[in-house]
Amino acid sequence: MTETQPKASHFIDGAYVEDTAGTPIPVIYPATGQQIALVHSATDAIVERALISAKRAQKEWATWTGTERGRVLKRAAQIMRERNRALSILETYDTGKPLSETLYVDATSSADALEYFGGLAGALTGEHIPLGQDFVYTVREPLGVCVGIGAWNYPTQIAGWKGAPALACGNAMIFKPSETTPLCALKVAEILYEAGAPAGLFNVVQGLGDVGAKLVSDCRVDKVSLTGSVPTGRKVYAAAADGMKHVTMELGGKSPLIIFDDADLENAVGGAILGNFYSSGQVCSNGTRVFVQEAMVEPFLRRLCERLDNAVIGDPMDEATTFGPMVSENQMTIVEGFIAKGQAEGARLVYGGGRVAREGFFVQPTVFADVTDDMTIARDEIFGPVLSVLSFKTEEEVMARANDTQFGLAAGVFTADLTRAHRVVAGFEAGTCYINTYNDAPVEAPFGGSKMSGVGRENSKAAIEHYSQLKSVYVRMGDVEAPF
Ligand code: NAD
Repeated sequence: MTETQPKASHFIDGAYVEDTAGTPIPVIYPATGQQIALVHSATDAIVERALISAKRAQKEWATWTGTERGRVLKRAAQIMRERNRALSILETYDTGKPLSETLYVDATSSADALEYFGGLAGALTGEHIPLGQDFVYTVREPLGVCVGIGAWNYPTQIAGWKGAPALACGNAMIFKPSETTPLCALKVAEILYEAGAPAGLFNVVQGLGDVGAKLVSDCRVDKVSLTGSVPTGRKVYAAAADGMKHVTMELGGKSPLIIFDDADLENAVGGAILGNFYSSGQVCSNGTRVFVQEAMVEPFLRRLCERLDNAVIGDPMDEATTFGPMVSENQMTIVEGFIAKGQAEGARLVYGGGRVAREGFFVQPTVFADVTDDMTIARDEIFGPVLSVLSFKTEEEVMARANDTQFGLAAGVFTADLTRAHRVVAGFEAGTCYINTYNDAPVEAPFGGSKMSGVGRENSKAAIEHYSQLKSVYVRMGDVEAPF
């Protein structure tokens, strides 16, 4: 039996701490609607403790060698992998995502980040810039105290993706999980401490947006990394700008997935399934606008619907289940609203479209055809299992339509013509692109968006630039020539 109630709401300075004066936040298991835990939002006193201990721990951590820091991260990765099953069960309780997913992409992905950045930590250096007999050398320094703010779809992964590069670079992190999924990040904090991170180096505080806002505006915070929606991103970016803080913004999307009629049908359908129904569609980079070339539309829809019949919707803890509930009742209602709008605006419902007749927040995998560019379901981020098929004739036409969005997180193309694939990708206004695949996110590759979908990149060596800064040191070997 997994213990879902944490020892206390927050993890600060190497220990669980509680302050029941904070607003209660009930934790609901999305598959049943039952409360499985209760945490409290951080009070000012809790936020203060987190900031003081992070500031102190960062000073100590920055004196460690990169190799020593990396060793802690790699040890944490190892502990995480050893506990993968328990962590995955907790992730399933927190989010409702089926165990058949969480066993493979949550704690494991967080562990990948810890391992990858643990490996890089000892290799982070500045450079030597010769200037005749003089020279400049650069020192790669940490930023200081970083704040990570998470969305609810991948709570363990987001904590790892933000924490690992931050710590590798010598920073401390205060992480505020989404109030919808507060449980998993506490385990990440516990494991990092157990692996040898100084107390206070990775703190977790619970809370709603006001706690996030408090952290972002504190002058002791040097960097903010948010995973969330565009409206929240705007607010957080503006608040961070006030204090001239570094930011990473991983925001929403409405990504195009283009399927040309020469594409392998099975692979294209598989890509569309991965890009729309994994995690019940609650993935920021999903390719929800599926542009299918005219001749391919009906075969694509037929095969997609056949394969959707194979989805096993049910108890997320049963490893045979491949499709779980929405994260919350609120999210379920939002998705139902979009489905109703799709029908009202004239899209053709070809699959699903309703709730699943069982307890919990289940919405059926849903497919709309005959979707046009101006429909709400083709313009707004739904963040649920709703796939829209839009037909197109030519490459030129579809590129203009694919890019006609404020978002720029991801984009994909399926075609047998590799020259065309590269041409299409070159034309995409998006940060993360796919050719004949969709939604892979290995830690080795940069991940992030352009346009309104974000600023900065997570994962890969690129993340180092967002968690460190360079100090330039000019060295003169001869005399100083002053004008007077
Ligand atoms: P959200 O924007 O409602 O909340 C995100 C986080 O910000 C939460 O922890 C919330 O408490 C906090 N927050 C809210 N207001 C704040 C404020 N004023 N100051 C500081 N913090 C504040 O997003 P959500 O509903 O939790 O997640 C869904 C969204 O996240 C979708 O738009 C999705 O596309 C996006 N997302 C993006 C990525 C990515 O990597 N690009 C990944 C996952 C989710």
